[in-house]
Amino acid sequence: MSAGPELRRAVVAASHDLAARGWVANHDGNITARAGRARFLATPTATAKARVSERLLLEVDDGGARVAGNTKPFGELNLHLAVYHERQDVGAVVHAHPPYATALASSGNNLVERPFIAEAVISVGPWIPLVPFSLPGKQAADALSPYIGDVDVLLLENHGVLAWGRDVEQAFLRLELAEHLARIATLAEASGGVKPLSADNLRTLAKKRAASGLGAAADRAERVVDRALAAGRAPAPESSPKAAPPATEAGSAVGREELTAVIKEELVRALKGP
Ligand SMILES: [Zn+2]
Repeated sequence: MSAGPELRRAVVAASHDLAARGWVANHDGNITARAGRARFLATPTATAKARVSERLLLEVDDGGARVAGNTKPFGELNLHLAVYHERQDVGAVVHAHPPYATALASSGNNLVERPFIAEAVISVGPWIPLVPFSLPGKQAADALSPYIGDVDVLLLENHGVLAWGRDVEQAFLRLELAEHLARIATLAEASGGVKPLSADNLRTLAKKRAASGLGAAADRAERVVDRALAAGRAPAPESSPKAAPPATEAGSAVGREELTAVIKEELVRALKGP
C-alpha cells in the first residue's frame, strides 16, 4: 500500500505552514504520516520546509529504510518511529523549532508543563513534559520513550517540539497549541507569570479529556495528572485562590519572583545590546 494523494497533500501543506509560521529555519522540522502497515510517508532531509513538494516526499518502513521515493530520510526519523511503535492510534508526527516553545525548552524552564488554559488541558492533556537533552540517535529515542504513552506533545530540551495525533492536522494543531501556550506564558512572566490551574480543576478537565475519544493518551488523562503534578511546578492551592499558600509552597512562590526578576534583567540586558 502506498500513500494516497490526499495524505501527500496534507503533509506538503503542513510543511509549508511550518515555514510560513516561522517555526523552522534552514532545513529544520519534519513530518511523517502513517501510510499503511509499517509504512510511513515522510518529508525529505536537507530541504527547506517551504520547498517540500509531493514529488520530494518519500516512504520508509518501520525500520526507517526508504521503500519509495528518490529523496533521503531525515536524521530525526527514529523519534517519529518510536512514537508510531508505542502508539497504534497515532497517524502523524510533526516536529519543528517554534521560537517561544523552543526558548522554554532551551532555558530548561518549562512554563507550559501544566497547561493553564482549560481548553488546552482537553486538547493536549494536563502535561507537556520537557524531555531531557540527548544527542541525536538511539539515545534520543530512548529518552522520549517514557513519555510517548501519556502525552501528545512535548518539548525536547535544547531542541524544539514534537507532537502527534490521529492525522497530520491534529498533530499540527497540537504543536501550534504548545507554541501558543509558550508565547502566552512568556508574555505573562512580565506580570508575575501564569497562574497554574489547581490540581482539582486539572483532574476535572482530565476526566473530560478521557471521555473525549482523543486517542490513547487522552484515555489515560486522569492518571497523567499525577505525573504532571509530580513533575511540574508546585500546584496552586486547592482552596480559594486568595487563601495564603501552605508553607511548603512559599519556596516556589519566591522562586518564581526570582525567576521573573532574572528574566526581566536578561531582557533589559538584551535590549541594551553589548
Ligand atoms: Zn529538530
